[in-house]
Formats: sequence, structure tokens, C-alpha cells
Amino acid sequence: MTQSVGEQRGGYRPPDPVEVPPLYAWPPRPTAALRWLLFDLWFPWGFLYVVLAIVVWNHLTPGLERMATLEVGWVTLVWLRNAALLGLLAGGLHWWLYVRRTQGSDYKYVDRWPATDSDRFLWRHQVRDNMFWSLASGVTVWSLYEALTLWAWASGRIRGVVWSEAPVYLAVMTLLTFFWSTTHFWLNHRLLHWPPLYRTAHELHHRNVNTGPWTGISMHPIEHVIYFSMFLLWWVVPVHPTVIILSGFFNGLSPVVTHSGFDQLALGRRARVTVGDLFHHLHHRHFEVNYGNTPSPIDALAGTWHDGTDEAQEALRHRRRADQT
Ligand SMILES: [Zn+2]
Ligand SMILES: [Zn+2]
Repeated sequence: MTQSVGEQRGGYRPPDPVEVPPLYAWPPRPTAALRWLLFDLWFPWGFLYVVLAIVVWNHLTPGLERMATLEVGWVTLVWLRNAALLGLLAGGLHWWLYVRRTQGSDYKYVDRWPATDSDRFLWRHQVRDNMFWSLASGVTVWSLYEALTLWAWASGRIRGVVWSEAPVYLAVMTLLTFFWSTTHFWLNHRLLHWPPLYRTAHELHHRNVNTGPWTGISMHPIEHVIYFSMFLLWWVVPVHPTVIILSGFFNGLSPVVTHSGFDQLALGRRARVTVGDLFHHLHHRHFEVNYGNTPSPIDALAGTWHDGTDEAQEALRHRRRADQT
């Protein structure tokens, strides 16, 4: 494996820097932008979440009549369904990469395994700590926001749209969900780095420098309430429940993959699937960079974009020195 990013030693360093997507290129690159918008942005995980949202809406969500009345019974079912999906994805990746260690530390950003004796974590055990915060608080807050939004939709408290009446509008809204989720993430994450909120809440997520699948939504309850508040958009912008559920997957399931700790999942001798997110990994490593995600490159405007190169690391050092003087 090649040497790693910046100060990193012994982990995997992807060969290419993280680039701003071609959608934002100047002068415009229309063909590349369109390809990115319709394919690269979605492949492969976005496609999976869309298919999953359709299946979940049709087979794993209580009926509209039942959801029109707010009741503990069906809200609990939503919690159980989300906990099961998180358990399958995080548990599956964790088993494959960390228990079975199928590919050893190939493509692993940090050349260490999760902590099993550290006072930073509950029960001194990183994975158990991460599972606790993800399931007890993460899935609960996610499911409550989702259930309340579905209840408002089912009971006619918010305006709804159905696919048979507005397929183009809903397809565009599905695409925009990516940008809404990542823009909201930059905004709330920037807020969470405000020192009082960082100390009270966000520090818990940052205890994980060496992240794993269960780290994805391992956050303080206050952070969960802020983070999953992206659901509130659907109270003013009419969409279909498939889009509501999909947005939950972007915030609830997608971080499992992007925090996996590995850049690539090796399947067999040749096949590789991108699992990690170098951009966010660099945030866990350096804190004051990469507050957002690449689809909404606000960090590039804010001067906090770290593309993983030595030059970006040098620029960060300069910034830190300037801040100190
Ligand atoms: Zn993170
Ligand atoms: Zn952070």
C-alpha cells in the first residue's frame, strides 16, 4: 500500500485528490456534468438507497390509514425496520471488514483496528460504544422524525404529491434530495463545530478518528436532533413518502458506508466497490476541514476544502499558524 495522506502513516492513500464535481466546473463541462448528475452521483450506493426506499415504502411501512393516527404501535415498527436496516448494513460491513477481515487492511485509511481498551468509549470498547449511540439515540431520533413526517403526510396535515400525478416533479425532487441532504449537513455540521456545541455534543462523534461502519451515526442525542432535522423540509415542500424515506436513508444509512474506514471493498480478485469517503475521513483526521460532502461543495467556497494532497495539508498548516498569531 502507498503512503497515506498528510501526516498519516501506514494507511491507504487514494491516488487521486478529491475533486469538486464537474457540475460546478467553470467553464462548464456539460457532458461530464450530466454524466455525474445521472450516474456518478448515484453509483452504486445512491441507486441502492432508491431501490430500498421503494421496497420499504411498499412492503415495510404501515399503511396510510394506520399512519393517519399517531400511535406507539406503528411508530415502533418504523423504529424496528430502521434498526434492522442499520444492523444489516453496518453489521454486514463490520463482519466482512473487521471480524472476518476479508481484505486485511488493504484500502484501510488508518492502519489500526477499532479500540478495545480506551477510556474514550463506553465500556472502553469503540464498536460497542458506536452501536449503542447509533441504535439507542440515532435510530430513535431518525425514526421519530420520519414517523412524524409520514403521519403529517397520511393525515393531510402537509401537502402530498403522488407519483402518478407528478412523476417528473418527484423525480427532480429525488435528485434534489441529494443536494438538500448534503447542504443541510454542511450547515448543521458547521454549527456543531461552534465550541460550546462541539464540547457538549459533537465531540462524541469525533472520538472516532479511526472510523468504522458503526461510527456513521454514532452521535450525541443533541446532534441527532439537529442532524435529522433535514426531515423538516418535507413539512413545507410537498413530496411522496418514497422521497421522505429516501432522505432518511441518506442521513441514516449512507454514513455507515462513508465511515467504513476503507476506501474500497474488494470483492474477489478484481472487483472493487467504493465504500469510504476520503473527504469525510479527512474531516475526522483534521477537524477544521471538509464540513460538508462533495455533492454540495460549500467547503470549496468557504476555503475549507481539503483534497487529500500534501499541498492542501500545507495550506491547512498555514491557516492554523495564522489563526494562532
Ligand atoms: Zn463523521
Ligand atoms: Zn465534525
